[in-house]
Amino acid sequence: MSGPLIGVLALQGDVREHLAALAAADAAAGPVRRPEELARVDALVVPGGESTTMSKLATLFGMLEPLRERVRAGMPVYGTCAGLILLADKILDPRSGQETIGGIDMIVRRNAFGRQNESFEASVAMAGVDGGPVDGVFIRAPWVESVGATVEVLAEYDGHVVAVRQGNALATSFHPELTGDHRVHGLFAEMVRAAG
Ligand code: GLN
Repeated sequence: MSGPLIGVLALQGDVREHLAALAAADAAAGPVRRPEELARVDALVVPGGESTTMSKLATLFGMLEPLRERVRAGMPVYGTCAGLILLADKILDPRSGQETIGGIDMIVRRNAFGRQNESFEASVAMAGVDGGPVDGVFIRAPWVESVGATVEVLAEYDGHVVAVRQGNALATSFHPELTGDHRVHGLFAEMVRAAG
């Protein structure tokens, strides 16, 4: 019996790094660009990149509604950075034409850490990830400004929420796919197996 297939939304962003991290976490993974490909996967990673560009490409490729439907139906999803923005029900300061897939009852602030530091690394303790803190790579990262009552906060950095989970949806402000540490992808792969 083959295990679940995890797609990586491949419209823009660090797709290859996520495919490699999923493979390292023993999960079967492949790129997803079109609705037919989305229909074949059991779960989806929304990568880091640029959330406005990704949202515009999703609209152009006819992916926005199919993505919203799958997420609404409970497909496990994991978003990093721009992917976290795309999974937010609400963006505080959206650019014009910027839509989200939604799925997590939270409000996010884009480029929130950018004013002080465009990019930095920090050690982040994350609930659900055993074996000590993860190496958080923050690149013009958003933070989560507020969450609804059923959203679990998994990590905070400098007083700001940077990792959350709501049901089958997981999101981090930082990029585990850019480190050699695949524990967060392992946590997602476990969520996918449990959902299957
Ligand atoms: N600041 C970017 C955005 O708004 C996200 C950056 C990232 O994914 N590294 O989409």
